[in-house]
Amino acid sequence: MSTKPLPLQAGCQDPRDPGTLSVEAARQRIIDNLEPISATLTLALRDALGYTLGEDLISPVDVPAHTNSAVDGYALRGAELPSDEERAFDCIASAFAGHPSDTPVGAGQCIRIMTGAPLPAGADTVVMQEQTRVEDDRVRVGGGHRVGQNVRHAGEDLTRGRPALRAGTALLPAHLGLVASLGIGEVRVQRPPRVAFFSTGDELRSIGEPLGAGEIYDSNRYTLHGMLRRLGVSILDLGVVRDRPQALRDAFQRASEDADVLITSGGVSVGESDFVKDILDELGTVDFWKIAMKPGRPFAFGRLGDCAFFGLPGNPVAVMVTFYQFVRPALLHLAGRTPPPMEPLFKARCTSEIRKKPGRTEFYRGILEPDGDGTLTVRSAGAQGSGVLRSMAEANCFVVLPPDSAGISPGTLVDVQPFEGLV
Ligand code: AMP
Ligand code: MG
Repeated sequence: MSTKPLPLQAGCQDPRDPGTLSVEAARQRIIDNLEPISATLTLALRDALGYTLGEDLISPVDVPAHTNSAVDGYALRGAELPSDEERAFDCIASAFAGHPSDTPVGAGQCIRIMTGAPLPAGADTVVMQEQTRVEDDRVRVGGGHRVGQNVRHAGEDLTRGRPALRAGTALLPAHLGLVASLGIGEVRVQRPPRVAFFSTGDELRSIGEPLGAGEIYDSNRYTLHGMLRRLGVSILDLGVVRDRPQALRDAFQRASEDADVLITSGGVSVGESDFVKDILDELGTVDFWKIAMKPGRPFAFGRLGDCAFFGLPGNPVAVMVTFYQFVRPALLHLAGRTPPPMEPLFKARCTSEIRKKPGRTEFYRGILEPDGDGTLTVRSAGAQGSGVLRSMAEANCFVVLPPDSAGISPGTLVDVQPFEGLV
């Protein structure tokens, strides 16, 4: 992976704190500093689900391969359709999907045809069977039809020699089906980013270890692991690293050798964990940013050699908010994907009162649900402290309150970023 130099200067997003960056400006700076990984690998089609297509996929065939019927009915010559009076056609053969008829359709004739069967020679139009009257081998057709109706033309979905999918496409179930429809069994995909992460903090213990006075279990590595797995990246868990210079130095060193990206949590608050700052300065280029957001400030971004570095706050909810707002788009960018827009996706009516100070973007944990009349409402998911994972676990969306908002009263329309689709 190659990275561009960091054009970091103090932002002026918040007039009361000129060193503070807006959420959008921080996200853009990160994206601007990362080049997508160029390495690719070839995978069997089924294994490629969730990967990013590494090259344009050129269609080797026309889809559909044959001009065929879109309905069950009767194929005939469009020029013989009656304008109003009923007209009778002789039914001379049948065509099924996979069993074409080689009998050509002549004047006054039709062929019984099923959905997907190739159109027989001579026919250019299909009349749905529900719109006919059949007596013995005579098929009666009335007025109101159109020449060429109910026919799918060869190559109308995908044309041979043209790109069927573009490089950078995230391969979802529909794409696998589309690739299969071309008869292609392997695809070239972008190598996913290798992401290392560790937690810092002398109070942290791993599951299975007894807790001493003032100690807590490390939960951030589990949330991070979950969020990373759902993005399909390669994961390297470096555990809990104590606040000792050499332990941190070793962990940073290892990550910068083995990974494209290192994510840490904890120890980025001002005046705290000075070891982290000192060692990052010693080994790489890292800048600590104050971002005008809650929860989530402060936040560090930079690099260690070729490895991009994200220093997330320690509070468990702040980890998730900063991951979704900054790390996720960055990883999708590195994976060669155009990140989906991170702006709130839609509006919902908020039934809770939310207090807020102007000047920063706030991400509020909410529960989105349909109300009786078919619209969506959102309410608070409970206590909003940045250490409270319970409300994060019960929430299904963020309510995103923009910097100029001074809080909202119940009944206000708010921007909502649903979790499903984000992860
Ligand atoms: P820090 O950013 O290191 O000042 O940590 C802020 C808060 O988050 C403190 O209460 C820490 O104990 C807590 N914290 C830090 N890292 C973790 C972690 N990995 N798991 C759970 N809580 C954490
Ligand atoms: Mg700490």
